[in-house]
Amino acid sequence: MSALEAVASAPESRISQSLASENPYRSRRTFAIISHPDAGKTTLTERLLSAAGAIQKAGQVRGKASARSTRSDWMEMEQQRGISVASSVMTFDYQGLTFNLLDTPGHSDFSEDTYRVLTAVDAAIMVIDAAKGIESQTLKLFEVCRLRDIPIITFINKIDREGREPLDLFDEIADKLALDLTPALWPIGQGVDYKGYLDLVEKRVVGPTGAPGAEWDDIEDLLEHEELIADPVFVNALDTLELARSALPKFDLEDFQAGHLTPVLFGSALKGFGVAELLQALGEWAPEPRPQPAEPAPISPDEPKVSGFVFKVQANMDANHRDRIAFVRLSSGKFTRGMKLRNVRTGKDLAVTSPMFFFGHDRELAEEAVAGDIVGIPNHGTLSVGDTLTEGSAIKVTGIPNFAPEIIRRVRLTDAIKAKQLAKALNDLSEEGVAQVFRRMIGADYLVGVVGALQLDVLGARVEKEYNVPIGFESVGLEVVRWVESDEPDEMKRFIAAQKSHMAEDRNGDPVFMAQNAWWAQRAQDDYPKIRFLATKERR
Ligand code: GDP
Repeated sequence: MSALEAVASAPESRISQSLASENPYRSRRTFAIISHPDAGKTTLTERLLSAAGAIQKAGQVRGKASARSTRSDWMEMEQQRGISVASSVMTFDYQGLTFNLLDTPGHSDFSEDTYRVLTAVDAAIMVIDAAKGIESQTLKLFEVCRLRDIPIITFINKIDREGREPLDLFDEIADKLALDLTPALWPIGQGVDYKGYLDLVEKRVVGPTGAPGAEWDDIEDLLEHEELIADPVFVNALDTLELARSALPKFDLEDFQAGHLTPVLFGSALKGFGVAELLQALGEWAPEPRPQPAEPAPISPDEPKVSGFVFKVQANMDANHRDRIAFVRLSSGKFTRGMKLRNVRTGKDLAVTSPMFFFGHDRELAEEAVAGDIVGIPNHGTLSVGDTLTEGSAIKVTGIPNFAPEIIRRVRLTDAIKAKQLAKALNDLSEEGVAQVFRRMIGADYLVGVVGALQLDVLGARVEKEYNVPIGFESVGLEVVRWVESDEPDEMKRFIAAQKSHMAEDRNGDPVFMAQNAWWAQRAQDDYPKIRFLATKERR
């Protein structure tokens, strides 16, 4: 049986079709996939899209990206490296629901964009390689999800190959992520021994080809199936599942939606095992668009007036137009093309005449959109990451953070006459979110901070190309960056005075402490207990 046939034997839908008729936003499921490179995110994306019928043939996602011809120079640079910095959106309908899958760049050289995409989703799928368990990037992305209590469905991938023991993986996930787990699909063997899985949601056994087999009310009923218990692989699967179940909580929708409990599905993106069930789980359990944290009050998706926020700006998507697309996640109201929206930060109105929906690298005009949807708005620099758009009300969306950079470099200007141009370039590009820019308190050096080395290359290439200022980057021996604040102004003054050579200001003028390494950062924290050291800062 092919993967697609396996997908076609999905359980009957129990998703209500009537949700959407009154409040279209209630049918939206906006999510991302988080994983470490090579865990199988691309393969799973293709499978999900084909399971939903969004593409005819699995393999198109990657094919489309590489076939794209109009690319600007720095997009070419990404292409040469075989990676994509562009987080795009894939929208597909399935069983009366509209899924918006926000892509997060999968390369290890990822950027703050990757993090910020997670501020625009209501749920995430965490893909883990069954042979590798939790890897560094999964952990980082998970931590960002936790900041917002984003509910997570865990997919342990590649069970068609030899991997680690399920119980061992459960222990590791629970331990490293401090998260409650509950099994939803449990594998019967792995690799060459793979015999299918136990589907705890539908209470059925699914065979190695995806064909449904024995069903149960109580899992012990399975002991009566002689043909099953004659197989030691099956008996072992049942035993370990029982061990897991006795130690773990049952699935609870509220706990899941609050981000405390993750249902775990074992499967194979490559072979299509468990993919239909994953899609089903997402449709049934993942929350509809949630209220958006904002000042003075959270924005309910029921609010009739349109509001949304920019979570990403992508420049140079079209080489011929030098355009910038601001990706806006709608938080409320019904948006229609041509509408005027106010950028709350600048107070200026913007007629949104050519909003776009994206499908991978393709785009189409967005005539209408509701809360949960992602709309691309072309602009020439009026929209920045973190901006709130409304029909006029002075609300400010919150929860769009800057993340402490992990790489700090001094900007070296090769042509001193261009200092002014450099200042403008760095200011523009930091507003766009390409990199963070800091000014040292001693000396006038610009420091740039990024979370992935690729961001530096992009920054350098764009400053040179768009502002005609050639620059280089130099190491400054600083590795850990923390915003600092305190309720006691005198203590803050004392700290800054003592640490002046390690202090800088960010683009808002907020103080930032930079340490040589984690040990020194910890030492400063120990020495100054009244100072708070923050790894994220609300974007203003
Ligand atoms: P990404 O970097 O997370 O997007 O990972 P990819 O989807 O590109 O997958 C990385 C590699 O793992 C590719 O060679 C895939 O064919 C392979 N892969 C993905 N899913 C599975 C799976 O379920 N089983 C096996 N055996 N290989 C897989």
